[in-house]
Amino acid sequence: MNSSIAFVADIDSEEANSWLGHFARLMPETPVVPFDALADLEAVEVAIVANPRPADLLKLPNLKWIQSLWAGVEGILKEPSLDHIPLVRMTDPNLAETMAEAVLAWTLYLHRDMPAYAQQQKEAIWKQMPFTRASSRTVGILGLGKLGLAAATVLKAAGFNAVGWSRSLKTIDGVQTFAGRDGLTEMLDQTDILVCLLPHTLETRNLLDAEAFTTLKKGGSLINFGRGAIVDHEALIDALDSGHMNHAVLDVFRQEPLPAKNALWQHPHITVLPHISAPTDPVSASQLVVMNMRHYQNDGSMPVTVNRQTGY
Ligand code: NAP
Repeated sequence: MNSSIAFVADIDSEEANSWLGHFARLMPETPVVPFDALADLEAVEVAIVANPRPADLLKLPNLKWIQSLWAGVEGILKEPSLDHIPLVRMTDPNLAETMAEAVLAWTLYLHRDMPAYAQQQKEAIWKQMPFTRASSRTVGILGLGKLGLAAATVLKAAGFNAVGWSRSLKTIDGVQTFAGRDGLTEMLDQTDILVCLLPHTLETRNLLDAEAFTTLKKGGSLINFGRGAIVDHEALIDALDSGHMNHAVLDVFRQEPLPAKNALWQHPHITVLPHISAPTDPVSASQLVVMNMRHYQNDGSMPVTVNRQTGY
């Protein structure tokens, strides 16, 4: 390929420079050029992107494909003007490992009643809750893709009864799996801790609504590490306030950063995290991106691209 690679990113300059530094070190022979510094827009065939402005990408007339630095690409998919450009999202195996660790950490937080003990300490209350074995706790995972599968494996190894739901039915050793609407109801009905690792698509938007929370086992909890728009937050607050649900750990929101006046911050049964469950590791992610660039340079091959019909 005798062309340039553009870096189209609307992120802070320190972070952008750090990514550019990784690319320059790993791929000194092929410069990755920030959009604003591109001398020849027509020469660009590949764009590496992080929160790109669609208008910038549309100024690259010979763009063949887009490599996202993030795993979630709904921001790009919602731009119809970019529909014709193949899109590759970040699928770093390290990310799945990091996410599985976060899922285990916050599942244990809920499993061992840490929110309630933290509250009791504030009030100097000495009260022991009944102990439940991990094997008696069903953790339902929504999404059995790269992240969901890694989470299921770690949860199972920790002794939980891990079950999972996806669009197409999966076979996973030691994990009961479900698919379809009826499958979702069946899974929610037996789930103590629900872990959302779904992408945000037209189908998953508001999937976790009042009906879903009512179906969840009484005393159930939610961990949302997928995307904010999958959860109807008003319905979640109702389910927590009514006592049907126990607690929610939320890492992703419709608007990020979560505005200071948002009620979720103050809710006694909600733990708010600032989108930290699985940060992209720039070292391994840049190696993966460079590998993709090299394959393309060598033989014109592109990694697996996002399916625009399903939205992930
Ligand atoms: P993936 O490999 O594409 O897997 C997506 C899974 O969701 C698949 O199992 C898929 O089912 C299932 N799914 C999609 N639409 C569905 C629907 N309508 N009904 C039922 N199941 C559905 O994605 P991934 O790499 O695991 O990542 C998942 C999401 O995690 C990303 O899209 C991103 O939003 C989020 N994420 C969050 C963070 C964070 O820091 N919080 C970090 C990275 C990623 P099939 O298997 O049948 O296709």
